[in-house]
Amino acid sequence: MMHFHRMSAPAVIRDVLGRERAVQRTWPDGSWECPFCYSAVIAERGEAACRNPGCCANPDMPIAAAQKLVDTAARAERERTEREKLAEWRREAREQEARERSAAWAEISAECERRGACVHCAHEHFRSYRPPRYVRHRKGCPKMHRTRT
Ligand SMILES: [Zn+2]
Ligand SMILES: [Zn+2]
Repeated sequence: MMHFHRMSAPAVIRDVLGRERAVQRTWPDGSWECPFCYSAVIAERGEAACRNPGCCANPDMPIAAAQKLVDTAARAERERTEREKLAEWRREAREQEARERSAAWAEISAECERRGACVHCAHEHFRSYRPPRYVRHRKGCPKMHRTRT
């Protein structure tokens, strides 16, 4: 029967840049999860630190390389935030335009009512962003007639 020297998982890990994070997950054999990259650090293999070659908590990671990783991640995060802000701004602009269009249309249709003008003809202009047009038909609206047949 083999006997392992049971190592206990550390509570806090410090990466090569000196940043500290608490270990969130441990296993009964003393293995634990790297709080920086979520790789398992296996006690049975005698590992006492993260061995992930891409992780800042791997003691073999050069400090300059770790700093570069952190900077790249920070830049990506800034870019993501910028993209989100832009999308939000576009959404607001679209909503604002929709509100203005519906207010403008309410005004034009009220004006049609006042003048006894044709709401269909007015709407055709409105739809194509032309200035409002107020027409009075003697017989019904030819556009209405066209759409009916
Ligand atoms: Zn790691
Ligand atoms: Zn008409």
